[in-house]
Amino acid sequence: MNIHEYQAKQVLKGFGAPVAAGVAITSADEAEAAARQLPGPLYVVKSQIHAGGRGKGKFKELGPDAKGGVRLAFSIEDVVKNAREMLGNTLVTAQTGPAGKQVNRLYIEDGADIDRELYCSLLVDRSTGRVSFVVSTEGGMDIEAVAHDTPEKIVTIDIDPEAGVTPANVDEINTAYGLTGEAAEDGKSLFPILYKAFIDTDMSMLEVNPLIVMENGRLRVLDAKVSFDGNALFRHEDMKALRDETEEDAKEIEASEWDLAYVALDGNIGCMVNGAGLAMATMDIIKLYGKEPANFCDVGGGASKEKVAAAFKIITADPAVQGILVNIFGGIMRCDVIAEGVVAAVKEVGLKVPLVVRLEGTNVEQGKRILNESGLAITAADDLDDAAQKIVAAVG
Ligand code: GDP
Ligand code: MG
Repeated sequence: MNIHEYQAKQVLKGFGAPVAAGVAITSADEAEAAARQLPGPLYVVKSQIHAGGRGKGKFKELGPDAKGGVRLAFSIEDVVKNAREMLGNTLVTAQTGPAGKQVNRLYIEDGADIDRELYCSLLVDRSTGRVSFVVSTEGGMDIEAVAHDTPEKIVTIDIDPEAGVTPANVDEINTAYGLTGEAAEDGKSLFPILYKAFIDTDMSMLEVNPLIVMENGRLRVLDAKVSFDGNALFRHEDMKALRDETEEDAKEIEASEWDLAYVALDGNIGCMVNGAGLAMATMDIIKLYGKEPANFCDVGGGASKEKVAAAFKIITADPAVQGILVNIFGGIMRCDVIAEGVVAAVKEVGLKVPLVVRLEGTNVEQGKRILNESGLAITAADDLDDAAQKIVAAVG
């Protein structure tokens, strides 16, 4: 689960991290009062969307010469003017995709005088089984580009879970950044704080880009991006409350209500499967025959007919889907239940694209009979290979 920058800063502030004062607003009428709460004379007006690269982003409605999604303002009037221009418009960044995201909320922040912009993130490193700090002196820019062009400028420091962030770890991080004096002193408290926030709230990612050294020599978290581990959210009611469903894929929300694992992708073949391994294999074989999956929906082990029908409807609701492949291995899941769910869903929403079904396992004969006797235009497949070739051929 992702949250907005202003929420992430609130969370980090709660752990004692240095962040600027700021006020979130949802209408331009609130801009003046928000700015009056801040000391000035420098303000920052920041678009709150679940995507990065806002500073370099462009508003669709404003043309190529307009300023981006993060703007400096030098007076209260300037804050109000920018808020009016930004709110309600669509921001396109390197991370939003071409459709962009509508900006419904702004964060008005006390501006900082920046000396240096650094990169700092914490993530779960699966190769070491530890949380790692990933740090670089090249902050404020696209870290993927830094990793590609100058990988030597990225330093990874993994943290022993027993010991937490030790003074030696802090020294390593401070050295990697070249921090001295007050900034290095700030690092002694900040890096353990970031780690504690990460662990205590079950984050899966925390990215501070940039972490800044201000002209007064102090550190500040200037931008913050947080993802929480969805599997641990049940023990963080307070973090769950930060969820903004308007920022999420509507189909993924519906799927989560049915306890379905649905993932939207970029191709045009919809996939209904049971089990993560089968999902991966199904997508691989679609790619092998030259097409790309539009999504996959994992109905899991013991799905009901209603759940299968819901899954089918979610898959067909995506306009990019030009064909559907149902690939089920009935172990705990029974093939007749899958067939009944598919038939019920098709009868309800209709079938506008080719549908190939491959069933195997418990009650497979019964399942095939239900599909055959349904009178619907469903193509049966014998095995995974056959199924993939048939759906790729049908989509053309
Ligand atoms: P992003 O573009 O979505 O990553 O948004 P950021 O919050 O990282 O802001 C983008 C850039 O705006 C930063 O890298 C800074 O260069 C600039 N910026 C943001 N806040 C301030 C500020 O308080 N003072 C100054 N001088 N620049 C800022
Ligand atoms: Mg940033």
